[in-house]
Amino acid sequence: MAAPPTPPAWNRAADPFVELVSADAITRRVAELGATITADYRAIGAGEDVVVIGVLKGSVIFMSDLIRQVALPLTVDFIGVASYGDATVSSGVVQITQDLTRPIEGKHVLVVEDIVDTGHTVHYLMANLATRNPASIKLCSLLHKPDRAEREVHIDYLGFTIPNKFVVGYGLDVAQRYRNLPFIGYVAQP
Ligand code: 5GP
Repeated sequence: MAAPPTPPAWNRAADPFVELVSADAITRRVAELGATITADYRAIGAGEDVVVIGVLKGSVIFMSDLIRQVALPLTVDFIGVASYGDATVSSGVVQITQDLTRPIEGKHVLVVEDIVDTGHTVHYLMANLATRNPASIKLCSLLHKPDRAEREVHIDYLGFTIPNKFVVGYGLDVAQRYRNLPFIGYVAQP
């Protein structure tokens, strides 16, 4: 495992981070995912109908990097979901807190998520979006924690498989902090 990167100056708590995925590794993987997505959607003749849907808030940094690696005409939208339960344990009860701004009927939908953990959120979301009659629907997730799976979820495009740690950075937070770390890691317990 890599040595902890230098804590950023704004990290007031000076929490020691253990880096799991470096900024360079993220950049390389995002470029690969973008190239694969481009080729796949070209192959099905998706034309002007690709809609990339970011799941708020954790996916926004990943999504903004990813779509710049996708060489296709596309539109973006966002959906907000909340899962009841405490901050780090998913209860399996999911609610849409902010809906899409446009219909997705007849569109080729690519859902972009930060992490699939138990799978409850994505399971609910994909089923909900599928009822809106898109032409196709696929999932791209930056991270997957297979050790925690409770629902079977098919991830069409996956960035990295990670161990069962509560990770932060590159869009992921703990209590809304650390989303702007350029790498993915976890806060080491003292
Ligand atoms: P699931 O429903 O798959 O258990 O949980 C998915 C959601 O829980 C993610 O979209 C994310 O918001 C949150 N989550 C799960 N694991 C982590 C983690 O390790 N770090 C952070 N920051 N959020 C997580």
